[in-house]
Amino acid sequence: MTNYQNIIKQIHGHLSLQKNYGEVAEYIPELAQVNAEKFGVYLAMVDGQSYCVGDWQDSFSMQSIVKVLLLSLAYTKLGGRLWQRVGVEPSGTPFNLLGILENDNGIPRNPFSNAGAIVVCDVLMDLYEDPRQALLQLVRELSGDNFIQFNKQVAESEKTEGYRNVALINLMKSLGNIYNDVDEVLDLYFDCCSIAINCEQLAKTFLFLANHGQTIDGHTRLLNPSQAKRINAIMLTCGFYDEAGDFAYKVGLPGKSGVGGGIVAVLPEKYSIAVWSPRLNDKGNSYRGLKFLEQFTTDTQLSIF
Ligand code: GLU
Repeated sequence: MTNYQNIIKQIHGHLSLQKNYGEVAEYIPELAQVNAEKFGVYLAMVDGQSYCVGDWQDSFSMQSIVKVLLLSLAYTKLGGRLWQRVGVEPSGTPFNLLGILENDNGIPRNPFSNAGAIVVCDVLMDLYEDPRQALLQLVRELSGDNFIQFNKQVAESEKTEGYRNVALINLMKSLGNIYNDVDEVLDLYFDCCSIAINCEQLAKTFLFLANHGQTIDGHTRLLNPSQAKRINAIMLTCGFYDEAGDFAYKVGLPGKSGVGGGIVAVLPEKYSIAVWSPRLNDKGNSYRGLKFLEQFTTDTQLSIF
């Protein structure tokens, strides 16, 4: 039998001895305060077992990882009609690029670019009476932790410096793809990105995507199996900005990263794994997180390929 605890402990130990590269995200001032050497891992299996190592109990900022949950909330209600507002093609460009959006008439290439997630927030404002509450309730239910909260300081900090997202939303509004007030949509987007979560909560939250759209206790079904397959496909092709191909090549799992240094990835029918290490490479993905997952799928020989 595979000794998962041993494997994750060894990889964590080995990488901790290697030089750590990259920078913490500084364009959100509050995120620059984080201890850059933190490094935690939590592996949650579909059969209920779990394994952990390092700083897995420390909370960090979810950031772009939340885009998967926002998408799921919109997709479960709208189904395929959602794709009239946002595409499912990888963009091959940084997460906040303005250029292609103008050429594409304000329809973002995919829901995991900033523009795409902002459109999804706009959609959620029309679908849910209180979209913040809907998101919080979902994360709490999936993670089994009722204390998960937005981090107001992080959200405020991003609001003061989020010029590029302001530009993106205004461009989309001018092209007719934002229906609500731009400030309200952006506030919702920043709040959602600010959720504070630890590796255990994150891995558990994403287990539904390893379990055909429902929690492993069977209590909550967010997506049907076909919808879960599609969300996983978008994670595989678009989950790592313009490093998605590299992640698929080296790791071989659907996943999503955030500039808070977190990465979550799933192997359908088997596990969900969360890794957190705040130093980001030049593509905005956690340097150690990528290294860890590459070694993990190599050592366990468990990936989707
Ligand atoms: N809130 C961040 C932004 O909009 C999310 C980016 C990320 O995690 O990739 O820039």
